[in-house]
Amino acid sequence: MRLIMELKKNQEIILKIDDLGNNGEGIGRLDGYALFVKDALPGETIRARIMKCNKKYGFARMMEVLECSDSGRVKPKCPVARQCGGCTLQHLSYEKQLAYKEKKVKDCLVRIGGLDAEKVEWLPILGMETPWQYRNKAQFPVKMQKDDSGVLRPVAGFYAGRTHSIIPVTDCAIQHPCMKEILDTVLSWMQEQHVTAYDEVSHRGLVRHLYIRRAYHTSQIMVCLVLNGRQISENLQRTLIEKLSGIQGMTSIFLNINTDQTNIILGKEMILLWGQEYIEDRIGEISYHISPQSFYQVNPVQTEKLYQTALEFAGLIGEETVWDLYCGIGTISLFLAKNAKKVYGVEIVPAAIQNARENARLNGIQNAEFFCGAAEEVVPRLAEELAALADVVVVDPPRKGCDGVLLDTIVKMAPARIVYVSCDPGTLARDVKLLGEKGYEVKKVRACDMFGQGGHVEVACCLQREDKANP
Ligand code: SAH
Repeated sequence: MRLIMELKKNQEIILKIDDLGNNGEGIGRLDGYALFVKDALPGETIRARIMKCNKKYGFARMMEVLECSDSGRVKPKCPVARQCGGCTLQHLSYEKQLAYKEKKVKDCLVRIGGLDAEKVEWLPILGMETPWQYRNKAQFPVKMQKDDSGVLRPVAGFYAGRTHSIIPVTDCAIQHPCMKEILDTVLSWMQEQHVTAYDEVSHRGLVRHLYIRRAYHTSQIMVCLVLNGRQISENLQRTLIEKLSGIQGMTSIFLNINTDQTNIILGKEMILLWGQEYIEDRIGEISYHISPQSFYQVNPVQTEKLYQTALEFAGLIGEETVWDLYCGIGTISLFLAKNAKKVYGVEIVPAAIQNARENARLNGIQNAEFFCGAAEEVVPRLAEELAALADVVVVDPPRKGCDGVLLDTIVKMAPARIVYVSCDPGTLARDVKLLGEKGYEVKKVRACDMFGQGGHVEVACCLQREDKANP
């Protein structure tokens, strides 16, 4: 390619942006060569500086917006929005964020999934009423950093995009305001008690991360300090408990032990320091116990809308056997149980399955049964052992999508409908293509915005087996 040979690091170019990438970066093309530019928006012509060029695409830094037509640019609410790696779309109006997410889902399903757009009912994206202060979970890295007067202090915040340097932020615009009080409390305890923060280069220092969860409906709070060490003195435990337990809603204080040299936040061992082992929240009419290791959606208001959509797509009349694969703490399973004859949930994390069973009891639900293990191992075995029928299968896998063995097993179980809930339209499209080749046609698609100000999108898809009638 002629052009790449010509582009040099630090060279300035004029670029028209016409698309957004998966992480919210603007994409512009020079002679067909794609350049990704963070903070640039479609509709803008910008001055940019070349940072890096690969064979097929390159990266440039946004220097100045020269011209702009209906790009939807707004002033970010958060003063560190540009440096922080958390929110990738704060500079885009919320209305345009929703339009972008809707388009991304459709593009993936048509381009990668091979869907005929005309044959699918594209329901409008479920947007948030207030796309701020919505998150119920935060994981803040902690580090020793010099303040303005040169004194080394513990700070917490977020990693700057693509790096491990911390931007101190305690009042994040998308987190619940209680997070600030908790962070300030723990940081002042560290300072008073001379507790050090972890340094990933020397692998020394104690506090690595602060992991916080808050239940939306009950306001219960869980705090977990991730430590690079097995022991903290009784005095430290007592002073920490004294400080944190005074915060309104504090329900559960954990220590997590993670002495590995790793980027993974939580270590295997959890020690309950104070309070109870779970917090309790509700989605719709169902109550849930949530342990620190269990997955729980981060946006409680939107989660209810997403599950409501899954329920509609499942089209239950009360006589069905439903499988909820990748079920976490049984959230979707129990949400569907009152409209089904039987629900089976499968999940890999033992603490989550324990929560799921407790949650069934807590809600007096007797027609739900839960199995622990990898879905791709457990489901083929159970399908045979139980000679289990499946009228509807719900899957809600992590970003990498469903395992191929699992998809084959689902096809063999031959449910009339599959409800696919996904947090990655790319892998959803890949899996839907495969299911399409085996006789499942996508009927309805609805995106749901769980991550306002960020680039990720959640989507629910209803697939119908061609030889089985509609409900
Ligand atoms: N449906 C739940 C959880 C969805 S998140 C909810 O809405 O809350 C995806 C879940 O899949 C996580 O709980 C994760 O622990 C689980 N998981 C990941 N890999 C798995 C596998 N191979 N088999 C079963 N569960 C898995």
